[in-house]
Amino acid sequence: MTGKIATEIVVIGAGLAGLSCAQQLAQAGYQVIVLEKSRGVGGRLATRRLHNTCADHGARSLQPETNLLRSLIDCLVGQGVLQPWQTSTYRWQDHRVSAIPTPPQFIAPQGITAVAKFLAAGLTLHRQCRVTAIERGSETWHIQAQTADTLTTLSARAVVLAIPAAQALDLITPLFPRFISTEAIAALGYISYYPGFSVMAGYPVACFDKFDALPAAGWQVEFANEPDLGWVGLENSKHRAVEFPLLVVQSSAAFAQTHLEAIDLAAVAEKLLQAAAERLLPWLNQPDWLQTHRWRYALTAQTYAGAVLPLAISPWLLGCGDWCSGSGAAAALQSGLAAADTLNQQLQQRSLLPAEVLWERLGERLKDNRTYKSFES
Ligand SMILES: Cc1cc2nc3c(=O)[nH]c(=O)nc-3n(C[C@H](O)[C@H](O)[C@H](O)COP(=O)(O)OP(=O)(O)OC[C@H]3O[C@@H](n4cnc5c(N)ncnc54)[C@H](O)[C@@H]3O)c2cc1C
Repeated sequence: MTGKIATEIVVIGAGLAGLSCAQQLAQAGYQVIVLEKSRGVGGRLATRRLHNTCADHGARSLQPETNLLRSLIDCLVGQGVLQPWQTSTYRWQDHRVSAIPTPPQFIAPQGITAVAKFLAAGLTLHRQCRVTAIERGSETWHIQAQTADTLTTLSARAVVLAIPAAQALDLITPLFPRFISTEAIAALGYISYYPGFSVMAGYPVACFDKFDALPAAGWQVEFANEPDLGWVGLENSKHRAVEFPLLVVQSSAAFAQTHLEAIDLAAVAEKLLQAAAERLLPWLNQPDWLQTHRWRYALTAQTYAGAVLPLAISPWLLGCGDWCSGSGAAAALQSGLAAADTLNQQLQQRSLLPAEVLWERLGERLKDNRTYKSFES
């Protein structure tokens, strides 16, 4: 992607919100370009490829919390992308683990980013392309998009910021007060997030025999009100071909807040594995290997009341994401489709597909083996 590009709509961010928004608008015939700063799609639906397997280090599963998310999950189960998570669930309380019922949860054997890849089918999407500035033209927005070696300007009649609110605020602050109102800045500034750390760790095969009371087929332990741990799970129950115990450890928000600016991520991981070893299994602090990911914006703490935040009109600039009207994947999906609906009302009032029909249509594309048109420099 070089030079100058003109399009109708630019969606910034290829997470659940951005992809659902872009897909709905693209299916209605709008010319849409998605810009994503990372190497892959999905945002916090994140899967890391490692040691001939993969681990979900963002959202560990999808829970059918709303009818909308349930409809997507049902379609993805039908497509073979998702399946119910067969795992045993425990809660750490009173210094021991107690079995609790496993809530309905769905996982992707290929990694949770498979959900995002499904939603991205057929879209024009530029990866490794970070939006660094947005400027206002006479009737369009000019979006500066930085790849490894090029800076491109895209012009669009409408822009959707499908990124965490704090990052959206950074991008639009230079437009204040001329093009963005005090109210819009205040609304974005009000939103806050809990940070998090995720540690992925692999152990010797012999450790399969040392799970004590925890089932080797798969388990997850939830920690409530612990200073360091939030959740620990055995990934093997998702990716059955993994030949060694593969753990994901998620920190508590309080721990992440304390260590947020840590330079030595290995030391942070060691602290978390030590905490897991003290509570669950003594060998958990001796992995063969480990990797750590820092999430500055993991889950929302304070959210915006509406499903979408209009930031400027004519040309349109909208904010959407999991920070609108709720939290987690359910809110992101709802907000992405609400952003598409809002823009469509303001632009050409075309007929938009009901969500179930949209998913079905994407399923057809998957059968045709069509993926997103991906560009990276
Ligand atoms: C550890 C963890 C556990 C979680 N567990 C659950 C769970 O169990 N259940 C649940 O429902 N939810 C869970 N979540 C939350 C869920 O993953 C998110 O709510 C949801 O995926 C957010 O989607 P989104 O599209 O709003 O934002 P994101 O997924 O954050 O997508 C935003 C995208 O924008 C991109 N971006 C940002 N800035 C720019 C820029 N300047 N230019 C270009 N691209 C940019 C980012 O790279 C990202 O891909 C969890 C999250 C984490 C981190």
